[in-house]
Amino acid sequence: MTFAAADGRSQVCRSCGAPVDHVVLDLGRQPLSNAYLRPDQVEDERLYPLCARLCTTCLLVQVEDVVAPQEIFEDYAYFSSYSDTWVEHARRFSEAMRDRFGLGPHSFVVEIASNDGYLLQHFVKAGVPVLGVEPARNVAAVAVEHGVPTWSRFFGRDTAAAVVAEHRRADLVVANNVVAHVPDLNDLVAGFADLVAPDGVVSIEVPHLLRLVVETQFDTIYHEHYSSFSLLAMEHVLERNGLVVFDVDELPTHGGSLRVLAAPRAAGRPVTGAVAAVRAAERDGSLDRPGGFEGFQERVRTCRDGLLAYLHDARDRGRRVVAYGAAAKGNTLLNHAGVTTDLIDYVVDRNPHKQGLLLPGSHLPVHDPERLRRDRPDVVLILPWNLRREIVGQLADIRGWGGRFAVAVPVMEEF
Ligand code: ZN
Repeated sequence: MTFAAADGRSQVCRSCGAPVDHVVLDLGRQPLSNAYLRPDQVEDERLYPLCARLCTTCLLVQVEDVVAPQEIFEDYAYFSSYSDTWVEHARRFSEAMRDRFGLGPHSFVVEIASNDGYLLQHFVKAGVPVLGVEPARNVAAVAVEHGVPTWSRFFGRDTAAAVVAEHRRADLVVANNVVAHVPDLNDLVAGFADLVAPDGVVSIEVPHLLRLVVETQFDTIYHEHYSSFSLLAMEHVLERNGLVVFDVDELPTHGGSLRVLAAPRAAGRPVTGAVAAVRAAERDGSLDRPGGFEGFQERVRTCRDGLLAYLHDARDRGRRVVAYGAAAKGNTLLNHAGVTTDLIDYVVDRNPHKQGLLLPGSHLPVHDPERLRRDRPDVVLILPWNLRREIVGQLADIRGWGGRFAVAVPVMEEF
């Protein structure tokens, strides 16, 4: 195991360029959250500083980019279709957008980071022309197989120009859960502005920073999650690129997300009252100043200590604990707490691309969920707590052998 040296240069805000020095949360050194390992790769694992900072100029919370996105996302093992919750969320989104903006066979929808086509497939079924842009080649190939036209490349101004040249400007640009994952934020957002038609709409979903702070969702902070957005910070970067937020929805996804609808300023779309309401809630939560993050590090410590006390107690009492969900956020939690296979035997995940690999840092082996039925552990610790209801439903049969569930965030809980 080697440590990547911090190079000592001061961090500059990826949105506005101001110096960023207010530390919100320091999680020490961690491996990349999505860097699943083969057993023979353990020796070469690298750790990088993981520290979230606030830009007091534009209010973006961000971690330093320690590794190029090409190293992270070109062979990305996440397939959205393995989560029933996401597929259903996408179906409802497609319906709502088609109804509200009158999208049909005459329209053009482009999704950035379109994954395996789990969302665009619903537009395709409704006869709406689409294009997906997805950097992970293996994931993009699955989308194409399923009838969703997809370009395998990163998105920014260059790709936007190529799409417009080959097709045309888009009536709807969808960027769900991607804006946080792109280090060159301004190139991404400028690409949205270049791609969207003058009367078109950009729909962006991001986990909401307000929920992250209020509910101690610190495990949504990891290296590949470069930025954490409030509406205030989102408006800064959009407006710098000529886009105005005209509506916002608060969604339950990812523990609380924002769906931001933006349009070119010249379109002059009326702004809904929801925009002012979310801005006011964020100011009430002091997200517009460093004081809003006071006590956050202490709450994270309490959460970590609660997990460790629980796992040690279980081990002392001979109770067997396994984990469910080989997700990025679980890795932040396990690695911040220093959990290894001496406290949790293994993790199960439905995604066959992760089975047989080891989680980064903790090195828990990833197995097929069927393994639970053979082993009958006493406790299943659910790592992606945002999918808690779905997972409890899928694994209801563990109650048959007296199995219990647990979650660790925001506080340790067994049920
Ligand atoms: Zn800034």
